Order: sequence, then C-alpha cells, then structure tokens
Amino acid sequence: MYSPAKYIPSIFVKRDVLQFTFFLTSRCNARCPFCFYWRDRHTSRDELSLEEIERFSAGMGDLLWLLFSGGEIFIRKDLPEIVDAFYRNTHPVIITLPTNGLAPNLILPKVEQILAGCPESAVVCKVSLDGVGEDHDRLRDTPGNFEKAMETWEGLHRLGERYDNLQLGINTVFCQENQDDMDAIIDFVNTLPGCETHTISMVRGDPADDDYKKIDLEKYKRAVDRLEVELKGSDAKMYHFAMARLKSAQDLVQRQLIYETMRQSRRLLPCYAGRITAVMNEEGDVFPCEILLDRMGNIRDFDYDFQELMHSQEADRVRAKIHRSKCYCSHECYFVTNILFNPLMVGPVAKKFLQLPGR
Ligand code: SF4
Repeated sequence: MYSPAKYIPSIFVKRDVLQFTFFLTSRCNARCPFCFYWRDRHTSRDELSLEEIERFSAGMGDLLWLLFSGGEIFIRKDLPEIVDAFYRNTHPVIITLPTNGLAPNLILPKVEQILAGCPESAVVCKVSLDGVGEDHDRLRDTPGNFEKAMETWEGLHRLGERYDNLQLGINTVFCQENQDDMDAIIDFVNTLPGCETHTISMVRGDPADDDYKKIDLEKYKRAVDRLEVELKGSDAKMYHFAMARLKSAQDLVQRQLIYETMRQSRRLLPCYAGRITAVMNEEGDVFPCEILLDRMGNIRDFDYDFQELMHSQEADRVRAKIHRSKCYCSHECYFVTNILFNPLMVGPVAKKFLQLPGR
C-alpha cells in the first residue's frame, strides 16, 4: 500500500496540495433538503470529460487523500476510469467514495472495479445514514433510500471480504431534524456488519431549508462524546489502513475542536485551505475549500496545468484573504488537514493516540 510517511515534511513546509476534493457531478438521485449543493443538483452542467481529467491530474503531483464528492458520484458512468486516471497520476494513499447508496446496481460493480484497479490505495466507501428506517427516507425526502442503502451496505460488506483495500464507514449529517435521534442512529450503526468508522458531520453551507442548521451544539457534543467513549473501548471501530489509528486520534481532537470553534464562533487553528487542500467542481473551477466561494481559477483557462493555477496571482489573493479574514467553519475535511499538518497539534494528537486501544 502507498505510505503516508512521505507527507510528514508538510507538517513544517506547506508547498503542495496533498488533499484534493473533486465534485464530479451535481447530478443526484436523492432530494436531501439539507444538501449544500442543492442549487445545482439534478442539473447537468458542463462536466469535465475523462480526457480533461486525465490531462490535469497528470500534472498534479502525488496526493495523500483524494476525495470525490457530488451529487451522487456513482451516477457518472466513467467513475472507475476517472479514479484510474488519478490512481496512475497521483498515487493517492486514501481514496474516499461517498454515496447515498440508492443504486446498488450502479455502485457495487464500480466499487469492485476501483478496488481491483487501485490495490495500493485504501479505498474508503462512506454510505450516508441520517436516520433509521423511515426516518432516513423522510429526512432525505427520498422514499426507499434506507432499504437501498442497506442493500448497498451488504454488497460492500461482501466485497470487503475479498478486497483488503476496502474500508467501510457510515457518515451521518447532524442537523436539527435528527439531533435527538443520535443515540438510536449510533446504536443501529453499531449493528452493521463490517462497519469500521462512524463519522458525524455537522450540517453546513447554505441548505435549501435553513431550519436544518438550527442545531443544539450541546447535542452535537453529546453525540461526539459518545463516539469518543466507544472509540476508546474494546469494541472500537477503526479503519485498517496504515496509520488508521493516528487518523482515529485526530478524529477525537477534531470533534472537540469543531464543538469549540462553533461555540466560540471563531477560528481556533490556522487554516491551510488553498495551500495543502484544493477543491474542484465538475466544471473545473478551483476553490481553496468547499465553503468559501472564492475562485482561484478554472483549470480550462490554465490549459489543464494544475500547478500553474495553484501558483497564480488569483490563488495568492485567495490565500491571503483566508489568512486575513480569519473565517471559520465546522467542515471536517479541513479540520483533518489543519490538525494533522499543524506542528502544535502533534502533542494533542499523540495524547489521544495513546488513549486508543492497541491494534
Ligand atoms: S476556515 Fe473553513 S471556510 Fe475558512 S478557508 Fe478554512 S475551510 Fe474554508
């Protein structure tokens, strides 16, 4: 498997993007009212073609973590070929494939193709689960979603028995509608065969219905505290890729920091968005993160040269603005990089690491 060790110097010198999020499509087969991408959902925009993706990924350099997003990424027929282009060109240590699980017939063959084609990467499949049974369908305004997600889960679990590079997890969006159901959701996830992690993401961005963002922070804290207790117990759920235990320790630090950031309404750590992270949408626009809609450029305008775009004047302007504005957010992906690559966080992460059960 590819080793994450070569990224250790980025704790001290931040030169290159090592975490890349690619919004492959805005098309989706679900109707979640808390989706932050809802304005573009279901519309077919001018998506980058496989050839264009091959061109820009060839000049990106290696990636620690490649995260696909959408829309429902499995709607793209050429998903395995897109992943293959990144695999050959960027040698990602971790590839994350999130899904709503609605189309097992589309998802399972593609996941298998990706697992077989990316043997040196840890392929993380994250299935969304925001409630149990009909609660999930109601929350997502998508009848039948729970049943289909469970069918997908069973299929993924079977694949996990044949492919050691598959890592299986559940993600729950924490929002006003389900904040009182967290215990039931965690209990249910604990019964899922093969589940290696359960993450809880705080609702973010600009959902269609703003009420979903009216959350009680103390309920969020209660849920993540419970996950922390479970992670320190003998039945702890943890991925099995190299340094997964370190990732779990970082998760523990992250959840408390997210709570404190939102409670104090201010940034508590320097943000490396736009320096070691970048986000691209399906039309090739590049942003420092998923929250700030400050465009650094479009890859088509840079003749598919990702490095030139990231070193452009516009990219410098956006990075300087992030530094000046001290914006803050709860976005888990940026907490990952802001914690793991901050030299001052080595101590707190090491402390949590030592509290985790041995593997
Ligand atoms: S703090 Fe959040 S919103 Fe601001 S740049 Fe970082 S990731 Fe983006």
